[in-house]
Amino acid sequence: MTAPAQPQTQPQVYEGIAVSGGVALGPLHVLRGPGATARRAGDPVQEAAAFKAALNEAATALQALIEAEDSLAGDILEFQLALLEDDDITAPVLAAIAGGTPADRAWIDKMDAEIADYRGDGDGVLAGRAEDLSDLKNRVLSALTGSSAALAEVPAGAILVAEDLTPSLFLDIDWSRLAGAVTTGGSPTSHVAILARARGVSLVVGTRLAVEGLPAGGTAILDAAAGRLTVNPDSAARAAAEAAGAAEAEKERAIAAVLHQPARTADGIPVMVLANIDAPALLDQVSSDICDGVGLTRTEFLFAGGRQPDEEEQLAFYRRLLAWADGRPVTVRTLDAGGDKPLPGVTIDGETNPFLGVRGLRLSFARPEVFRCQLRALVRAAEEAGNLKVMLPMITAPWELDQARAMLDEEIAGLRQAGIPCAHPALGIMIEVPAAALMAGDFEADFYSIGSNDLIQYTAACARDNPAVAALADPRTPAVLELIRRVVAAGEARGVEVSLCGEMASSPALISSLLDCGLTMLSCAPAQIGPVKLAIADYDGRGRNGADHG
Ligand code: PEP
Ligand code: MG
Repeated sequence: MTAPAQPQTQPQVYEGIAVSGGVALGPLHVLRGPGATARRAGDPVQEAAAFKAALNEAATALQALIEAEDSLAGDILEFQLALLEDDDITAPVLAAIAGGTPADRAWIDKMDAEIADYRGDGDGVLAGRAEDLSDLKNRVLSALTGSSAALAEVPAGAILVAEDLTPSLFLDIDWSRLAGAVTTGGSPTSHVAILARARGVSLVVGTRLAVEGLPAGGTAILDAAAGRLTVNPDSAARAAAEAAGAAEAEKERAIAAVLHQPARTADGIPVMVLANIDAPALLDQVSSDICDGVGLTRTEFLFAGGRQPDEEEQLAFYRRLLAWADGRPVTVRTLDAGGDKPLPGVTIDGETNPFLGVRGLRLSFARPEVFRCQLRALVRAAEEAGNLKVMLPMITAPWELDQARAMLDEEIAGLRQAGIPCAHPALGIMIEVPAAALMAGDFEADFYSIGSNDLIQYTAACARDNPAVAALADPRTPAVLELIRRVVAAGEARGVEVSLCGEMASSPALISSLLDCGLTMLSCAPAQIGPVKLAIADYDGRGRNGADHG
């Protein structure tokens, strides 16, 4: 027997790409883009005036957003503001208007051509710029046609559905009122996705659903962690979503209770939880109160886009980082380019196997001017704050540490001769290569930090960027855990700190394995500090197999 077709009431499931967030049940609200209404061709003089007024309105709104937002959002919006003042964009529009084209049509034509140019390039950075252009196109169009998305009408607790969300629209929305959003297009690496992650907004992108086919006022379940939207959920799905939502809320409460407290296992062992800083924007988004310091600063971002920051620029950032940490220890890793992190103008082109080539500290030796400049900035910062430590990436043999230390000493001597204040920071090494893990005790390092991402790839012989071999690169593989235990033992024997700063430390499910290895210092992604502290609080080392936690 076939059930009668009831497309409007049967559950419809749309799969997309999970960006961030959890499970929520709420009314659907479709957000339509601007430009749905069109201007009629009018007097060119009036059209030009309307266009200029729309540019002004857009500029004022962007300026207000920039002032209200953090630097991550500000950087994105500054680019749009600059475009509004760019004659190459506005002059052709005004010329088309003078020729009799309505202002909105002239603006759409110009912006669509620009967007197509940026998209056509196939370059990720330029595609991000296309997203900014499309955002700006809509903002000016809204001002011109008076069709700005009616955000005020969005019901509380709604799941917003849009073809795409633009950064400035995202920032206009009061997300605390809403359950989250689903877009038909979009990408998990877009600016909107970055903003959603940073602000904990539930977002699924790329569902490819037909917005017109959605039932007006219907209910849906947004499972943002699974990347799924279920429209017209049946009672079983509703009950499951409500239970998942309640469990999440309970977990959030438990995380809130431990977030600002020092971490301690259920059997009373204190564990230091530090933050990994891999973008300067994190310093605006995260309070240092929730962590015990910085366990890893990925300084590659200072060199983003092929830039080579000079000593003063680097020093300014290290000062900012130290001020953020407010006296807590801060570990800065020297430039770790190469392998999966090529840097135009610095890394070596044409290597047959870049992961096994001149990367990390090896590259610093091949580009001593870049390395020495960073060392000078670091030792100057160390003089101003006693809590700075310097860490060397991708080290294999003890002589590399000796050579790096000699270079550090030379830079200190040079600065002192020039009368520039500087100080010796603690100099530690990352343990990312099995050879270094096995022989950790042979290194005269002031501390060790285990880079489990690379340690796993080199131990399991599985490239970290190749999903086809991901199953073999299981972090719980006994060989990896054995190497971690050996490094912990070497640290204990030498009386120096051992931490772990790879992704393993950001994964609550792996925390018990790391604590079993004897680690009591973990450095993780800031967004994972709460969940990691909760996993630590749940851990009880008493009576665990082979665990020596004393
Ligand atoms: C690591 O390898 O674990 C690590 C922290 O370094 P990165 O991920 O930056 O290579
Ligand atoms: Mg690494």
